[in-house]
Amino acid sequence: MTDFDETRAAFHLPEGVVYLDGNSLGPLPLAARERLSAMLMQEWGEQLIRGWNTAGWYVQPRKVGDRVAKLIGAAPGTVVMGDTLSIKVYQALSAALELNPDRRVVLSDDGNFPSDLYIAQGLLTSLGRGYELKVVGPEEVEKSIDETVAATMITEVDYRTGRRHDMKAITAKAHRAGALAIWDLAHSVGAVDVDLTAADVDFAVGCTYKYLNGGPGAPAFIYVAPRHADRARPSLSGWMGHEAPFAFDLDYRPAPGIERMRVGTPPVIALTVLEAALDVWEGVEMRDVRAKSIELSERFIAGVETACPGLELGSPRNPAVRGSQVSFRHPHAYAVMQALIARGVIGDFRAPDSMRFGFTPLYLGAADIDRAIGVLADVLDKRLWDRPEYHRKASVT
Ligand SMILES: *Cc1c(COP(=O)(O)O)cnc(C)c1O
Repeated sequence: MTDFDETRAAFHLPEGVVYLDGNSLGPLPLAARERLSAMLMQEWGEQLIRGWNTAGWYVQPRKVGDRVAKLIGAAPGTVVMGDTLSIKVYQALSAALELNPDRRVVLSDDGNFPSDLYIAQGLLTSLGRGYELKVVGPEEVEKSIDETVAATMITEVDYRTGRRHDMKAITAKAHRAGALAIWDLAHSVGAVDVDLTAADVDFAVGCTYKYLNGGPGAPAFIYVAPRHADRARPSLSGWMGHEAPFAFDLDYRPAPGIERMRVGTPPVIALTVLEAALDVWEGVEMRDVRAKSIELSERFIAGVETACPGLELGSPRNPAVRGSQVSFRHPHAYAVMQALIARGVIGDFRAPDSMRFGFTPLYLGAADIDRAIGVLADVLDKRLWDRPEYHRKASVT
């Protein structure tokens, strides 16, 4: 059984704040301070360039990848860290398309995060040769998979509504049609139970600053199924993915296995913070996290629907097809969210009219949910949101 009192004590949570935005940026794991300061002083400070060997910086992307692998049902040696999620999407998609060279269609849905779609558009434009991005409604994905599709590129949990796709069914359908399945786990890893091996996924990618609490700009990860790992050609063929980076050959030869998905020098400082964040997950059962996430989100929905009749649920009602976040819609969602934030209840706004609340069992309990519901009801009942300063949009919403 996971001890959620222990996990909560592992984070710094500002006084008076109910944090319902850990789906966008997780809070600071307290142990990161000491871990990072030791890395700075003892490793970088004292070891200087020797740290690549003596402090294990060079192998860190693989070592940390193995720890992330455990959270997504992936075998050791199938996940590597580095770069941003957008770059990992590019790598996965370009490798998948080359593994299925006779097909030209990439299938995605309009609930996907725009960056994934933008990256696909950019890559397909560079490739030319009749490549096409087909974007359908989330409910249409499964039935739109046919023998023209080279790869599906789907985000499991919708960033706006929390709607969750059936990874196993879509992957199986893709395989029956001769397509490869790429999954983006940005809102899944650390939030829902993912089993890439059981679902027989081909490629997966995700970020670590959301539910894994790795901090702003924490590096992303990529998973390649073992059956593809020695065949997938890395389109971003940087020296760190070379078979022998320090041979300084003039020609690129990919490293065996997942190492080829490395590109350049890894972000050692960010990976060090992420290591401290992953320590919190030791002893945490994903099954317990999922059960408590459902409990918290069901409590929130029931409480809000009773206390705030003017709001419309923007997420699936059935928790089995919902990730770990809940959206409510309101014509003045942005201003309402600013009023909530001013009162210490932090969620976020997603255009055009959604207030998004993330449920993160590692550091949230029933009392937090009840307080958030109370503040939201007060803001709406007294129209506290209707002030000029709450209508002014900041650059990050
Ligand atoms: C958060 C998120 C991203 C962000 O990509 P970055 O390159 O890390 O900025 C991309 N895709 C999805 C599905 C996301 O949820």
